[in-house]
Amino acid sequence: MLWDMNALKRRHVVCLNEFEYVGVSLATAHTLGLKKIKLEVECQTAYILVGSVCHAKCGFCGMSKKTERGLSRVKWPLFSKDVVLEALREGVFSRKISRICLQVTCSDTQELLREMIKVLCQLDIPISLSKSVTSVSEIEDYLELGVCKITVNLDIITEKSYLQYKGINFKEKKKLLFDTAKKFPKKIVCHLIIGFDESEQECIELLDELSKVGVTVGLFAFFPIKGTELENHSQPDVGKYRRVQIAKHLIEKGVGIEQFKFDEQGKLQKIESDLGAETEQLAKAFQTTGCEGCSRPYYTEKPRGTLYNFPYKPNINEVEQCMKESGLWK
Ligand code: SF4
Repeated sequence: MLWDMNALKRRHVVCLNEFEYVGVSLATAHTLGLKKIKLEVECQTAYILVGSVCHAKCGFCGMSKKTERGLSRVKWPLFSKDVVLEALREGVFSRKISRICLQVTCSDTQELLREMIKVLCQLDIPISLSKSVTSVSEIEDYLELGVCKITVNLDIITEKSYLQYKGINFKEKKKLLFDTAKKFPKKIVCHLIIGFDESEQECIELLDELSKVGVTVGLFAFFPIKGTELENHSQPDVGKYRRVQIAKHLIEKGVGIEQFKFDEQGKLQKIESDLGAETEQLAKAFQTTGCEGCSRPYYTEKPRGTLYNFPYKPNINEVEQCMKESGLWK
């Protein structure tokens, strides 16, 4: 099918809300055969962008520019909703796709979203919904509709940066996160971005709390998007990111928070656990985290740069390099 891309671009801001088009992450479009690009990894999870102009004002997000640049560094080419549904059907049938993740902007998309969820449920694979939700009843409603996992995203870990870059109430969101985690066990997902003013200790203690209430955490490294308030903000120190990844992995395997030793600045100094026995399994620590099968290829890094999150199982050399970067192994 031939598309007049210029016409599409001109209509981009309105067309998503006209219920005609949805965005498909470039890697997903590649996996579904909708785009031919050079990419060595496949997307087991299909990422679909629903909604247009975002009313939220997150200082780190391209969608907050109200020009639909995209989420993180990923491109989201538009396709007609019907074309995408057909491609998803084929992707599920051929077992290329085992989860659908709907990424929804803060815009007037309620009707389209509900309609899409109902249709997608017929594909009989788990659906994750990443959306800025505001109430327990809203979450309950989507779960009843057939969504399997739903986000209550903090994104930012400290109250100060949260207020500065998201401009909404941190305590309210955190309360909603913990209340819903208890009410809907194993259904709640929280995205956390590393790279603001959070210390490793603050981050790891939060990961421990979230693990205890059964929240699935998707860890992201901050990535500066051109044209946003934070376009000049740097990516997190890779050593810090590796230490947080390792801590998250071990916490989820049952290592207690008292085993993690921090210095006065909250930097993780050492882990008093039998890391030797875990070393071989540490590959998982450096892979993309979140819902099962979520790989978000190159969402926060260039393919040839430092891979904060590996969209595939890293090989032994890559694992050793990550361990070295963490500074926890001398
Ligand atoms: S962890 Fe991955 S699949 Fe789950 S909601 Fe987040 S982006 Fe979607």
